[in-house]
Amino acid sequence: METANHPSVVIIGSGLGGLLCGALLAREGCRVTILEKAPEAGGCLQTFRRYGIPFETGFHTLGGFYPGSPMQRLLRSVGAWDAVAPHIMPLDADGFDEVHLHGRCYRLPTGKDRFTAALAGYFPEEKAQIEAYMDEVYRLCDLIPLFDLRMPDPNRPVHPDLSGRSVKQFIESYVHNPELRELLAWNNTLYGGDLFTPDFVAALVTKMYVEGTVRLRDGSRCLADALQQAVVSHGGQVLTQREAVRIEADRQAVSAVRTQDGKCFQADWYISALHPADTVRLLPEGAFPAAYRNRLTGLRNSYSLFTLFLVLKPDTMPYFNRNIYHYTGDSSVWEAGDYTPDDFPRGLMVMTPPMAGDNRFARKMIVHCIMRQDSVKAWQDSVHGARPEAYERFKADCTARIFATLRSIFPEIDAAVMHHFAATPLTLQHYLSLADAAVYGTVHDYRQLYASFLSVRTKISNLLLTGQSVKLHGICGVPATAVETCGAITGLDVLLRHIANDSINHTA
Ligand SMILES: Cc1cc2nc3c(=O)[nH]c(=O)nc-3n(C[C@H](O)[C@H](O)[C@H](O)COP(=O)(O)OP(=O)(O)OC[C@H]3O[C@@H](n4cnc5c(N)ncnc54)[C@H](O)[C@@H]3O)c2cc1C
Repeated sequence: METANHPSVVIIGSGLGGLLCGALLAREGCRVTILEKAPEAGGCLQTFRRYGIPFETGFHTLGGFYPGSPMQRLLRSVGAWDAVAPHIMPLDADGFDEVHLHGRCYRLPTGKDRFTAALAGYFPEEKAQIEAYMDEVYRLCDLIPLFDLRMPDPNRPVHPDLSGRSVKQFIESYVHNPELRELLAWNNTLYGGDLFTPDFVAALVTKMYVEGTVRLRDGSRCLADALQQAVVSHGGQVLTQREAVRIEADRQAVSAVRTQDGKCFQADWYISALHPADTVRLLPEGAFPAAYRNRLTGLRNSYSLFTLFLVLKPDTMPYFNRNIYHYTGDSSVWEAGDYTPDDFPRGLMVMTPPMAGDNRFARKMIVHCIMRQDSVKAWQDSVHGARPEAYERFKADCTARIFATLRSIFPEIDAAVMHHFAATPLTLQHYLSLADAAVYGTVHDYRQLYASFLSVRTKISNLLLTGQSVKLHGICGVPATAVETCGAITGLDVLLRHIANDSINHTA
């Protein structure tokens, strides 16, 4: 183990959270070892090939990749930006998202002013309220300095203005038209939004995507590769097929992490980038006080997804450079997860992710539908590759239902499809080791804000947490949490200063 200035760090899990922590700490001189269970690093950043076409597993649509954005500054700082930049493809600035609500179609353009003006064009009688709402979205984001890589006030970790209401209450306190109220919550499927989601979660996601939404050509693997390379280039290592099976600890300190192959990894600091409940399972029972243990294992998880992957025939379906959020029939944006077996799906998110080369025509389409874990509970204990016939029938039925809805958006879809296959929550659990198949990790409740947002520090002094289930998921939450986690080792002010200096040096 090393001196206090350059401590050694073992990180469990190589998703975006683990890799970013590894890259940032290795850049700070720490000796970093990342242990990953899967054959490849990346977690939800992984891509896979079917019928010769690369598909991403998660991470399809990303906010915060515009010039000068926190993500750009972070990636520059660890030396990963130049490898990712060529893959970045901004979505159509005139309509990065298209929303189908109650049979009407809305296009949402990039930029606060254009976004506001477009909504005011659709709902002219509410122009002043829409402007006030968007001002409040931006003001709420300003109250969370770390999302902009600014030093938070140590005496005020959560601003008092950030705890009062749900997204729905927030929106309804500004605008009155029922359809506009739904439209402003169009992207709640991007943040696991439900009736208890705190207002600022929607504010952060909305601002990030309105400021500029991108996709990564050929999927998010480039981000995993660039971060892994950053870890290695700063002297760290990423070890795959090393499943952590036990964290050796008493109430004071972790002493080692044991992996399935019988190896033992020791360090000054340990970071778990797993779901907190999985972290608890790896620890001896008495390592955490019972109340804390119960809090970590009792966190509420987000819903899961059913995903239909389509391989399209060449030159048949024009590529569309936007996401489509399609709510079926009279479904409201708040009810997409309340489907019954007879009216699944209540909403679709449809996209044609870009590939290298000519993108005038799409070669693939991904369709996500919210699916609750209880829909596949009957087959929970079956083994991947040998699931029962009833499960396959369920998948086929969901697929047929999705196709029926897709035809109402793209009447030509049947002629364009070459192959299709589907993933259920059980598929996600199998391939991504996603706890409870929850695509966005834990969810948050405005009524119990402090209970659902965790500290990166645990009750064990040298064990830290990171990843989507600590504070917020996705591109919006995981990077900011990684910075906070690393800051607990290096000093947050020191780390933020280094990131700022690195980005100044790059732009000079
Ligand atoms: C289908 C889907 C679509 C999504 N779409 C978007 C999107 O468009 N935009 C967006 O911003 N976000 C999206 N997200 C969310 C985003 O992908 C996640 O928030 C983020 O990638 C999570 O990163 P993480 O590091 O917290 O966890 P993960 O990526 O889950 O990484 C955890 C890692 O730990 C490993 N692991 C687990 N157990 C062990 C063990 N015992 N030992 C060692 N390693 C272990 C896993 O194999 C995995 O590699 C999506 C997620 C999914 C699933």
